[in-house]
Amino acid sequence: MSNVKIIADNYCCTGCGRCELFCPYGHISLKNGDLGFPVPFIEECKDCGECVKSCPWSDEYSDDEE
Ligand code: SF4
Ligand code: SF4
Repeated sequence: MSNVKIIADNYCCTGCGRCELFCPYGHISLKNGDLGFPVPFIEECKDCGECVKSCPWSDEYSDDEE
């Protein structure tokens, strides 16, 4: 997992907006999701992983598949 889509898909996103700020390519936009509050929508992800590092929930979704 290299971007925050999985965090939003699992309803862990709190809409804080950090990932939008930290994507070095500007490819994240917060828009209202299924539940009516802002979640990240991602275009042309470059798999850099910066958004995951910026997310307060990143520890829950590390790259380690243990
Ligand atoms: S380009 Fe990097 S920061 Fe932007 S969405 Fe993809 S993994 Fe996240
Ligand atoms: S950094 Fe995490 S909690 Fe904050 S908007 Fe992005 S996915 Fe949601």
